[in-house]
Amino acid sequence: MAFDIQNIRDDFPILGQKVNGKPLVYLDNAATTQKPVSVIEAEANVYRTINSNIHRGVHHLSNVCTEVFEDVRQKVKDFINAPSSDEVIFTRGTTESVNLLAASFGETFLNPGDEIILTEMEHHSNIVPWQLLAQRKGVTIKVVPVTDGGELDMQALGEMLNEKTRLISVAHISNVMGTINPVREIVALAHAAEIPVMIDGAQAIHHVPVDVQALDCDFYVFSGHKMYAPTGVGVFYGKRKWLEQMNPYQGGGEMIDKVSFSGTTFNDLPYKFEAGTPNYAGIIGLGAAIDYLKQNHLEEIWNYEHQLFEYALDKMKSVSGIRFVGEAAQHTSVISFLLGNSHPFDVGTLLDKLGFALRTGHHCAQPLMDRFGIPGTVRASFAFYNTKEEVDHLVEALIRVGTMLG
Ligand code: PLP
Repeated sequence: MAFDIQNIRDDFPILGQKVNGKPLVYLDNAATTQKPVSVIEAEANVYRTINSNIHRGVHHLSNVCTEVFEDVRQKVKDFINAPSSDEVIFTRGTTESVNLLAASFGETFLNPGDEIILTEMEHHSNIVPWQLLAQRKGVTIKVVPVTDGGELDMQALGEMLNEKTRLISVAHISNVMGTINPVREIVALAHAAEIPVMIDGAQAIHHVPVDVQALDCDFYVFSGHKMYAPTGVGVFYGKRKWLEQMNPYQGGGEMIDKVSFSGTTFNDLPYKFEAGTPNYAGIIGLGAAIDYLKQNHLEEIWNYEHQLFEYALDKMKSVSGIRFVGEAAQHTSVISFLLGNSHPFDVGTLLDKLGFALRTGHHCAQPLMDRFGIPGTVRASFAFYNTKEEVDHLVEALIRVGTMLG
């Protein structure tokens, strides 16, 4: 391993603090990741040195700010290997990206009686926008079941496709179980029937290589804040052939070509989908996060994280009464579990007293909780600044909490 874990941790000031008198062990990375100093500084430096509204000014500050902002579009394009930066659209996050697709693709292409396929393991933000669309357009939603092991039932998916199917929208990695879905296979299956696919990459973009051309997906969406970038920024990637046909998502400044009361024409890609002033400071922070990840050698980060995940899974098996939710053959970065008959909330609260930040509850995936007949889970989710020592401490703490809760 070329990167030094202590140096990495030093880059994330928040990790050095104590919580309830104990060193913080932050294992809620699937909810949001912490930010390195370079990202914090990149965003702060916008306001210190170049703050000015982008794209609009003839003056120096506006030009510089626009240039730095547009550089990030290139960085994102390279990061996901998009064919063109015109296909990279900035949003507020995964949720807004899915809403953009549901609204624009939905309004442009969907008609009553059409079908969309989702899966039982989707985050609410890849369910509810489609339900709203389904109500508006009379579209039917079909749901791919999840197996006991936490994998997609691919046979069921194959059987659902028919001449009415207009889109498949699926998570790359489950935020509850860490299941890595066979997205390349799904795209191939869908494309054989000329059906486009959206991949929700919120939990994947920072844990596995993402190459949208190799995946051949039609749309890929993710949030900045889950990949060490500021909150309030995200990405919507779409193939040009769809974006050019899709209606705009929101109306406002920047997305227009010419406005008049007799009719308005729209701007070119990607601006057609970027109405209003974006969070340019946050987006510049996203560029810094990509730089930071690259400086620390992405492959080493992915390998380290995966080894840590395997180590944690193995160690946690030794905790008496632990039951994992989802044990897919391909999985990474997220471990959901229950401890005996204890309520996840009680486990999480006691862990918090010991300095551990883990998430408890339904993780915005209530249909998946219903599938397993549970109210929620305790979830440990890892990032590359976590360590084996932290995992060891977690296991000790779980044994202690298990004893306390009987
Ligand atoms: N999709 C998945 C798989 C997620 O894990 C999350 C957040 O946890 C989202 C979508 C929503 O992301 P955001 O709240 O950043 O829009």
